[in-house]
Amino acid sequence: MTKSDISEIKQLLSKPKQIVIVPHKNPDGDAIGSTLALYHYLSAKGHHVSVVVPNDYPDFLKWIPGESTIINHETHTKEANTLIDEAELIFTLDFNALHRTGNMELPLAEANAIKILIDHHQQPDNYAKYIYSDVTMCSTCEMIYHFFEMLNDTDAINPKIATCLYVGIMTDTGSFRFASTTATTHRVIAHLIDRGAVNADIHGNVYDNNSYNRLQLLGVALNNLKLVQNLNTTYISLSQKELNKYNFKKGDTEGVVNYGLSIKGVRFAAIFIEHKQEGIIKISFRSKDNFDVNEFARAHFNGGGHINAAGGRCDLKLSETIDKFVSLLPNYSKALKS
Ligand code: 5GP
Ligand code: MN
Repeated sequence: MTKSDISEIKQLLSKPKQIVIVPHKNPDGDAIGSTLALYHYLSAKGHHVSVVVPNDYPDFLKWIPGESTIINHETHTKEANTLIDEAELIFTLDFNALHRTGNMELPLAEANAIKILIDHHQQPDNYAKYIYSDVTMCSTCEMIYHFFEMLNDTDAINPKIATCLYVGIMTDTGSFRFASTTATTHRVIAHLIDRGAVNADIHGNVYDNNSYNRLQLLGVALNNLKLVQNLNTTYISLSQKELNKYNFKKGDTEGVVNYGLSIKGVRFAAIFIEHKQEGIIKISFRSKDNFDVNEFARAHFNGGGHINAAGGRCDLKLSETIDKFVSLLPNYSKALKS
């Protein structure tokens, strides 16, 4: 984002506007945290702001300040489409291509609004007038903080904004442990605590929110974990039947793939989750070092993401999807063993 982009955006925001803020489908902590932080910031400046999400998000995010104002496009399609249609500005956060919003793709593509993209995923599409893309950033929430810096306005960060940004930085960095966490990330976090983010409460709200069923399902997942020892790879599968048995709710499998990556020496981990209704297998990939799961997901499973965290999907049956995955691994033998 150039200096002249920033001054144009400042100009745009100098008068009250109709604004819509959109995250990706199946929004996570970074998606909800960044959209709500920007919502609080712009609302306080006198704009008319709506956060529109493509579909529902996990219960462990349903306490974040402003969360109850979110409009779900899946359940409130007409209202959401009217807002998109009438918006003067649309911020798209935490995704790099409009198809990542599912059924919102067309209304967003057809909208007359000026679009502003803020995101940290690889290879962003060129659909927005203003693009702030930085793949070295740990989270979109950290980028929203830097966006406030560019606007010379970090003084506007109040406890609600600080809480929202803290959530996204915490969840996208695995609680500040991934390689994407920098000294600057920690300085941003320190400032957010100064500004009213209550760190222990936020951790508790997000992570100590398990149901008994969720832990039982984790047990099934860990039992299903397979290790391909000679290729330093693990994978987990969960069938629809297993999910049903433990009353699966959105978010219940979040983070499970990381257990596979915690085995000593493992560099590549995957989880395959059966979605019978959609007729797909949803996949998450995680890696260590320079094994690029964004490339792997793009090449073989219609997906994408970051170098060390990506997702994708497959139309084959669960067992066939796993067979496909396992049969691909030897092609990456050098990268997985080095
Ligand atoms: P997760 O595995 O947690 O769902 O996603 C990991 C990362 O990959 C996230 O940054 C997410 O936005 C991205 N991602 C997940 N699924 C897909 C997908 O189907 N397509 C693309 N392009 N990115 C995905
Ligand atoms: Mn993110």
